[in-house]
Amino acid sequence: MSEGQDEATVSRRKFLGAGSAIVAAAAGLGSAQAQETSSKDEPIIRTPDHHLPSESEPAAKNTALDEQNPNSVWSPATDAGGQPPFKYSFSLSHKRMEGGGWTRQVTVRDLAISKKMAGVQMRLIKGGVRELHWHVGAEWALMLYGSARITAVDQEGRSHVSDVNKGDLWIFPGGIPHSIQGLGDDGCQFLLVFDDGNFNEFATFLLTDWLTHTPPDVLAKNFNVPAETFAKVPPKELFIFERPLPRPLAEEQKQAEAGTGRVPHSFDFRPSEMKPTKVSKGGEVKIVDRKIWPATNIAAAIVTLKPGGLRELHWHPNEDEWQYYVSGKGRMTVFAAGGHARTMDFQEGDVGYVDKSAPHYVENTGDTDLVFIEVFPTPYYEDISLAEWLAHTPSRLVNQHIATGEDFLAKINKKEVVIVPE
Ligand code: MN
Ligand code: MN
Repeated sequence: MSEGQDEATVSRRKFLGAGSAIVAAAAGLGSAQAQETSSKDEPIIRTPDHHLPSESEPAAKNTALDEQNPNSVWSPATDAGGQPPFKYSFSLSHKRMEGGGWTRQVTVRDLAISKKMAGVQMRLIKGGVRELHWHVGAEWALMLYGSARITAVDQEGRSHVSDVNKGDLWIFPGGIPHSIQGLGDDGCQFLLVFDDGNFNEFATFLLTDWLTHTPPDVLAKNFNVPAETFAKVPPKELFIFERPLPRPLAEEQKQAEAGTGRVPHSFDFRPSEMKPTKVSKGGEVKIVDRKIWPATNIAAAIVTLKPGGLRELHWHPNEDEWQYYVSGKGRMTVFAAGGHARTMDFQEGDVGYVDKSAPHYVENTGDTDLVFIEVFPTPYYEDISLAEWLAHTPSRLVNQHIATGEDFLAKINKKEVVIVPE
């Protein structure tokens, strides 16, 4: 280390030790934020191989976690704190175990930034039933494994009964009662996304719970039957439980639709049967929103990035984005204005979150395809890319800002590419 660096280190320590700590305390700022602010007026010395004493980490550390988060251990030099964490993993969530399967959730209580959406993973064994229930928020689902039978009834008594398989989606609008049952030899596993960050899968309106908390004579009067009819209703909620497989699909559909018919727009959707919305050398995207799925009030993009592929720099003007990483490895930088930016790494089972209008990219950093979903609590998908913004603004004006030369600007594709390389 040179003498000059040594002096700089010492003077910075003095500065942090006295002045900024007092200022930070007075302003109610955390120490991390104070350091980010105070270090602005001197160069931060970093080396590609991190060999400086100032870069070393001599105490014991969690090597396994560090290896999964290289962009947190050594952030890009363009990162600059201040952006709150936007990653949580289902691996860290409490698993509620039941006889027929299990469930776990990632909500605003786990990931503070995720105010408008929450996610649930659920496993149902063969015959395992997620009890008939409903909730205030809407439920959007992606089948991750196996197959299931879903049922629902809308506000006009019309029925939906169908079987869904890996890759299929469903939507249950808020307040619509529904159920899920694992089929086949090994049931299913699926992801649920709710348009409410404070959602709680363990506090939904359950059929058994409701009947147990209604006076038996009222139940008898309601259905004009003897009160003994309800003598065997379980005194405690079933939630997830194991039962024999359902009857053949056509038979159950016919029975459930009697008198009122089927819901006018199907509550399930099969992305495997649609063409990609956009294909490029870097990968493909399927945008599934109300334009092609009239029943949904939650929009989604299913993105596949090939190794090296980049979901281009963009933002969403209309809503927050909730992400789930299905397979592969990637990283995302979120720029939060005011000089704040942070990069975090993602892999299978991770949840990401981006505030409305905050710009970001997602890059495949692995050697296999990266598959992730973007979910929005709104019926219609919207985005604006950096490239289309620059391509459709007078080039002289843009060049006066970023000095790239107008030739570069003229060559930007006039249509949004979505995933690069094109
Ligand atoms: Mn539900
Ligand atoms: Mn996005």
